Amino acid sequence: MANQTVSLLRYAKLPGLGWRRGKAILGKTGKLTPDYMLFGAQNNKQKIYAPDGHYELRYFDGKLPRYRDVGNDPTYALEQLQQAQRELRLKNAADAAGFIIPSPKQPKTKSLAEFGCEFLEHKKSPSLNLSEDAIKLYTAIVEEFIPISGKTYPQDITEADVIRYCDVLDKRYAARVRSTRYTSLRGFLFYCGLEPKRLISASVHKRLKSYEKRKVRIYSGAEITALLKICDPYHHTLFMLALLSGMRDNELSHLLWQQIDFEANVIRLQDYVIQHKGKQIVFKLKDGEARNIPIFPMLREELLQWRKQRPNSVFVVGTTNDQPNVKILDALKRKARKAGLNCGLCLGCAARNECHRFHTHYFRSSFASYALKRNDIRLVQEWMGHSDLETLAKYVGAAENCPAWLAELYVLPTTTKAEEEKMPSSIEFPKFSE
Ligand SMILES: [Zn+2]
Repeated sequence: MANQTVSLLRYAKLPGLGWRRGKAILGKTGKLTPDYMLFGAQNNKQKIYAPDGHYELRYFDGKLPRYRDVGNDPTYALEQLQQAQRELRLKNAADAAGFIIPSPKQPKTKSLAEFGCEFLEHKKSPSLNLSEDAIKLYTAIVEEFIPISGKTYPQDITEADVIRYCDVLDKRYAARVRSTRYTSLRGFLFYCGLEPKRLISASVHKRLKSYEKRKVRIYSGAEITALLKICDPYHHTLFMLALLSGMRDNELSHLLWQQIDFEANVIRLQDYVIQHKGKQIVFKLKDGEARNIPIFPMLREELLQWRKQRPNSVFVVGTTNDQPNVKILDALKRKARKAGLNCGLCLGCAARNECHRFHTHYFRSSFASYALKRNDIRLVQEWMGHSDLETLAKYVGAAENCPAWLAELYVLPTTTKAEEEKMPSSIEFPKFSE
């Protein structure tokens, strides 16, 4: 067995770089230079000031480095190094002579749970300015990984623990979730003094971080016709509106008749506050940006018919009590099942008989994809309320093989009815009888 070595490093937070390790610096007098470390490329190490950190002893366990925190006192850290070197010299000599000496008691190290608490405290610090979502992600990782690993100390973590954790995630979530959590887990392991690059082999790393980008899901002509066929007038209007306006779930449920301008043939979406049946109802658009969506001919017919059924309601597709329908998704799942459209293969079908292939958002994807076939991309961008074209780019070509009648639903008439109408007489100066 080759001789084992131990070295003294400094682990410190460097401005703009985060936590990094560098060799501790031994001065001419044989003392450590406090707060400094060597850092940089292999042949260009610089002495840098790194006051925000502590010293660590680095051992090797086979090829894996193991780190032991020895505090921030240079004298103590150096003593720890010298003691560790003496122990190793003895061990190396014994190894060479074929003796096996009992291994010295393990130095007291911080547990994974302790590292976890510290790590989360660190991530929550205001100076990092992390989003709530990012903090939730790190919290989930610490809370899930430690029990699944079944280990108490970081030095006992193996590649198999990481794989096991990712397997659990794969059973519960989409591959994208596993990929994100795996990447963040590496950050936590690094914080615990491990080196993910050495701990996890390249091929395993490649598998765990990869996921297939989901293809755009749009409803086919057959799905749309089958769904609408079993719908009562209310759900027919609801789904036609979703399909032909591309509105978000929340926008659909809060749409007011007042926002539908039949004369100008547009739906005007904007934030509002209304008093309705003794209650205040506040509606806010996703980015607060108002937008207009044209009313395509089929939707116009549908809305005019539907208005006759509910002449006095305030909400276009509200509940029977004229309140915003916040259960559009439930309704869609129910109708898809009734129409015999459930795939029978997905987890949703297995667990609740609610197919994953039906979601309100897919009406929005369908709108974008079909509308793009017959309209300028900049117009569709406005209708969708996207601030940039890139967001829309993924829908280009998604409706490649759709039936012609479906794309035709997204064509606006070239002449509006208003132009053909006669001018109303009241617009002229009134005639007075003498
Ligand atoms: Zn399904």
